[in-house]
Amino acid sequence: MNEFKLIDQYCRDLGRRQTGTLLGVGDDAALLQIDAGQQLVVSVDTMVEGVHFSTGLAPRLLAEKLLAVNLSDLAAMGAEPRWATLAATLPKADEHWLAEFSSGLNDAATRHNVELVGGDTTQGPLTLSLQIMGVVPAGAALLRSGAQAGDDVWVSGELGDAALALRCQADTDLASQLNVKRISRKLHCPQPQLSLGLALRGLASACIDISDGLLGDLGHLCQASGVGMDVELHQLSLSADYRRYMELGGSFDLAVCGGDDYQLAFTVAAQHRSKVETLAASVGITLSRIGTVTEGIDVKLYTNGAPYEPQESSAYQHFNELS
Ligand code: ADP
Ligand code: MG
Repeated sequence: MNEFKLIDQYCRDLGRRQTGTLLGVGDDAALLQIDAGQQLVVSVDTMVEGVHFSTGLAPRLLAEKLLAVNLSDLAAMGAEPRWATLAATLPKADEHWLAEFSSGLNDAATRHNVELVGGDTTQGPLTLSLQIMGVVPAGAALLRSGAQAGDDVWVSGELGDAALALRCQADTDLASQLNVKRISRKLHCPQPQLSLGLALRGLASACIDISDGLLGDLGHLCQASGVGMDVELHQLSLSADYRRYMELGGSFDLAVCGGDDYQLAFTVAAQHRSKVETLAASVGITLSRIGTVTEGIDVKLYTNGAPYEPQESSAYQHFNELS
């Protein structure tokens, strides 16, 4: 199968058709119309075999996660998803793999109201880059830079399960004591917090999605806002499996430094605390108030008021020693 047949068969008509699509797959570029008063929000994420996912991961799961990690960035901006482009580097044109990947991407994109409008296809080591495009009303995007001393610090959902699932892959003893199927779903099928992101417009002073670990990502938010934070780890929501892991001698470290959770961390002026609590009930997710923004410069962690220093290595970084 050649490149053009491949594109025709597996990359056309994926996802949900958007009214603003003037041209999609087939020309030299896509031509997209956004409504007056809207701003375009654009992000791209790459997944490399052996780095971001293990060899042999089911192509459906891969497609689902590729879209989810990108949608998580839109959620963090308070944006609504619209379009995506896909740069696929494939070792070979494996039709079974392509059919599964394409159908998985179609399902996930349809569910999240995204249309695939273009891309690029090349041969090489398995690498998938998805660029996501969404819209916000002009000026309404959530940024990392608006946190102010005195704001509350909030986080959605339960942290640490994705890192715990990875740990279980290497530790069969631990795996035998936990519901690995449930936590693996958290690793492979993260749920981007899009409804939450929309609901936080006009309410959150700053927002970030947690892709590389709570501590590191809160650090990015603090740096962008020029503030510090005091965070009490006992305020975190943890799953039953994570609490079991702690009973077995595990620490907060995976919840604090592990990546791949794709929850949102955000700050809200303390006077709007009850609005956030109401919102948690209406969106139907757990929102935990874990700390306070300070005039400091970094994130300080506490457990029952005592300073806490993670033992595990901090957030994952590419080029750690090089850059
Ligand atoms: P060009 O050579 O002009 O870059 P290509 O031959 O790479 O164009 O692509 C032809 C059309 O197919 C373009 O509209 C492009 O956006 C689309 N396309 C190529 N690869 C993909 C892909 N993996 N997913 C979606 N669309 C794709
Ligand atoms: Mg061209």
